[in-house]
Amino acid sequence: MKPEEVTRSRPLAPLTTLRAGGAAEQFYCARDREALASAAAYLHANEMEVTILGSGSNVLPSDRGVPGFTLLNRTSDIEVGPGGEVVADSGAAFQDLFLKTAQAGLAGFSYAVGIPGTVGGALASNAGAYRSCIAEFITGVEVVEDGVRSWIGPEDLQLSYRDSRLRRGDAGRCIVLRLRFQLEPGTPALIYDDARDYQRQRIGKQPPPASAGSFFKNVYDQGLADSLPGLPERLRASGVVPSGFLIEAVGLRGYRIGGAMLAERHANFILNVGRATASEIRSLAELAKARVADRFGTEIEEEVLYLGDWADWQSVGKP
Ligand SMILES: Cc1cc2nc3c(=O)[nH]c(=O)nc-3n(C[C@H](O)[C@H](O)[C@H](O)COP(=O)(O)OP(=O)(O)OC[C@H]3O[C@@H](n4cnc5c(N)ncnc54)[C@H](O)[C@@H]3O)c2cc1C
Repeated sequence: MKPEEVTRSRPLAPLTTLRAGGAAEQFYCARDREALASAAAYLHANEMEVTILGSGSNVLPSDRGVPGFTLLNRTSDIEVGPGGEVVADSGAAFQDLFLKTAQAGLAGFSYAVGIPGTVGGALASNAGAYRSCIAEFITGVEVVEDGVRSWIGPEDLQLSYRDSRLRRGDAGRCIVLRLRFQLEPGTPALIYDDARDYQRQRIGKQPPPASAGSFFKNVYDQGLADSLPGLPERLRASGVVPSGFLIEAVGLRGYRIGGAMLAERHANFILNVGRATASEIRSLAELAKARVADRFGTEIEEEVLYLGDWADWQSVGKP
């Protein structure tokens, strides 16, 4: 990382799918794995605050910006080896991982079509869809953690539903460089048919951009599921309550604060429908949380991560 490659006050909104938020105090774009590894090791050794950004499809940077260093991950190698072993850079697009593995006749990632993130971002939130998630096929993860580069096992990352330790605490102390997967051969026609089918379902229910996909995680609560008359039987049986169902039930579908709106088509999507500030988006999220908590006694938890300086932040929405 040469000094001339570091930018100050780099606006982050264009690097997020929500198109909102402030600037990175210092910013560096790593275009290959070695550049990413050495930047991470240097920043850790110098006790700098680090934030890593992939495709920015699951984050909301504060309007006040992101202090310290933001590393933009533009690494992209994917190697498909013999016997179903696949090694992908953390900056590779999740959809490219599907394409490369499908071309090699390997099954497992059909659900990744339509998820607009990197493999590293997918790992942080254990991204998934249609009853699959990235954790299922991981055998190893190369990281720079507290300045030390090593391979660790997936069990070290505490992966669970839309969660891992990469989302918690001082997440920038663990930067993922590469992921290793073990996949099984599949029937090519079925792999592509599944992908097409998932994509069709997505197009049917997803609102248009700009969004970060589902803003809140689903709620796993059998008691709550049993108490909701309108919940589809399939969801009641598995004790899953979509957050969108709860937000719709409290009458917030289509509700707006400034340029932020809870989508008409899918109430768990917050849309930036016109120069929304990060504060407006978060205010809408807080409003949805408060209304759901009041009515159902349930805390819905954000899937989207708030980045940067939110200290002393105050909601601009109604209580
Ligand atoms: C239209 C749309 C549809 C979506 N559909 C789905 C879906 O079906 N299922 C689903 O699970 N998600 C979905 N998402 C959310 C999002 O795309 C995924 O979570 C995605 O995998 C995030 O990847 P990213 O590169 O954009 O991560 P970013 O948003 O850039 O980062 C997310 C988090 O991961 C951390 N991170 C990123 N890279 C690394 C790394 N190399 N090392 C350590 N930490 C890292 C970041 O610091 C941040 O905390 C959707 C989003 C959109 C906009």
